[in-house]
Amino acid sequence: MQNVRLCENCGKNGMAVYDTREKADQLRRRRKCVYCGATFRTVELKTEEYEEMQNELQRLYSFINDLGKYFSEKAGEFND
Ligand SMILES: [Zn+2]
Repeated sequence: MQNVRLCENCGKNGMAVYDTREKADQLRRRRKCVYCGATFRTVELKTEEYEEMQNELQRLYSFINDLGKYFSEKAGEFND
């Protein structure tokens, strides 16, 4: 999936990447608008890092879910 970036200056979809640098876990890109010539710098996390973050988040969610189940079961025991 490709993110659509609109020019922050003129709002058109004409941002072209003309320089990409890797630094640690980041991708730093320089973009230039083909319509108005405005240049911007963007910083992106590398895709692998992003996927790892997503997985970590998923584990966290299921942990919280399990915790919720555990406590509602405990609460059920007290109510009996
Ligand atoms: Zn522009």
